[in-house]
Amino acid sequence: MNFSESRILVTGGTRGIGRAIVEAFAQHGARAAFTYRSSKAVAEELKKKINGLAFQCDAADFEAAQQTVNKIVEVWGGVDILVNNAGITRDGLIMRMGESDWDQVLNANLKSAFNYSKAVCQIMMRQRHGRIINISSIIGTIGNAGQANYAASKAGMVGFSKSLAKELAARGVTVNVVAPGYVETDMTGAISEKAKQQLLSAIPVNRAATPEEIATPVLFLASEEASYITGQVLGVNGGLYM
Ligand code: NDP
Repeated sequence: MNFSESRILVTGGTRGIGRAIVEAFAQHGARAAFTYRSSKAVAEELKKKINGLAFQCDAADFEAAQQTVNKIVEVWGGVDILVNNAGITRDGLIMRMGESDWDQVLNANLKSAFNYSKAVCQIMMRQRHGRIINISSIIGTIGNAGQANYAASKAGMVGFSKSLAKELAARGVTVNVVAPGYVETDMTGAISEKAKQQLLSAIPVNRAATPEEIATPVLFLASEEASYITGQVLGVNGGLYM
């Protein structure tokens, strides 16, 4: 896979899966930009390490998405690959889930994908080439008690991606979804030891994924080699859901 001419934008690139994706693209020679919300020191360190661009902005902010993409175009002249990765959880059973828990999760996880896809799609259509990869979750397909907001946001990403794939295919732009299972990151760090053991015992490969194991399929879908794949959902879950 050769990304030496590619200009990449990853939302939520400072930690976990997003960071692994940013670093993997950079290792393959791409020019990588990423956004983040609060980890400024980490962002500065990563920006230097990859010699890329970093933008502190809330992925849920429509105007900020447009401005970020405009700045990347100013510096690099275009965007070839967008990875909508930024995401949060605000878990709770529906009886206790507040309106803000719902709004925050839907905005950070789903509206963000709309914001950035809209900001890049005209550029990609003009280039007659582009790749959009949206990071959903196994939870969007199988659901999870206590995660109705998160599951809705991740299922929403699938319908969004398939629609966009149909709109953009004729212009050389593919849109796909990667749906991880259980990945070792800060997001899953809060799960209790007991719940972790239960989850692990249900995974046929018997372990959690590393962030790098999610980054590799993302790079494949972003590559030239994946030019005939669009509108697909690739489960990367160790067999947890087949
Ligand atoms: P982490 O919590 O480890 O990292 C999240 C990253 O996203 C951070 O860089 C954070 O930046 C950034 N971020 C969060 N909210 C925003 C926002 N509103 N605007 C901009 N950046 C934001 O998460 P993971 O790496 O675990 O998850 C990444 C994606 O993968 C998410 O979409 C998640 O739903 C999905 N996923 C994760 C799974 C897992 O098991 N971990 C399983 C399935 C899917 P900052 O630090 O600056 O706030």
